[in-house]
Amino acid sequence: MGNKYLVEECFFLTPRDVGRRFDRIRKLGTNILEGRDDISYWFDDMSEPTCLFVSVDGHEPQKFIWEPVELTFGEAAYFHCGCGYKARKLYLLPSGNEFKCRKCHNLRYALSVLNSKSIAGRVIYRANRLHKLANSRACMGRIFYDGNFTKRFERFLGLCDKAGLEDIVRGANALKELVRG
Ligand SMILES: [Zn+2]
Repeated sequence: MGNKYLVEECFFLTPRDVGRRFDRIRKLGTNILEGRDDISYWFDDMSEPTCLFVSVDGHEPQKFIWEPVELTFGEAAYFHCGCGYKARKLYLLPSGNEFKCRKCHNLRYALSVLNSKSIAGRVIYRANRLHKLANSRACMGRIFYDGNFTKRFERFLGLCDKAGLEDIVRGANALKELVRG
C-alpha cells in the first residue's frame, strides 16, 4: 500500500536537531527532542558517536548509523537510513512512528505535483501570501494534518467563503483531493 504523503506534511529530523549539544556538554542517556516530547534519542557513545537511536512515542527504538562530517565551522553529520542512503533529513509520517528517508517513505514535494497555474496551485500561493508565510512547508503545515484541513485552515476557508472568494474554497478542496490521491 503506497502512501500519498507530501514532504511538506511530514515532521523531519536533521542531524542538527539532535547534535546541537555536541559543542557544549554532551548529555548522557536519553534526550527528549526539543518541541516534540514524544520523541527521544540517544547515542551509543558520547565522545565519538557512531549510532543514533530514536524512539517515537515509546516504540521500539530505531538505530541509525551516524556519520560525522568535519566542517570549518562546527560539526555536521549524515544519518544512514535503513536503505543505506546518507540522509540529511529523516521523515516521520503524520501519526507514524518510523523515521525514514524521503524515498523510503515515498514522499512527494507539493510543488512538484502542483502546477502553479492550476487551481490547487493557486490556492497554495495565495494562502502563502495571505498568511505572509516564508515558505510552503510552514504553509502546508497549517493547511493539512493527516490529509484533512486543520481547524485553523477550515476557519480561514469559512472567511473566504463569506468574503465571496469561492475560487479559494474550490481550490482548497481540489488540493485536498490531490493530497488524498
Ligand atoms: Zn531510505
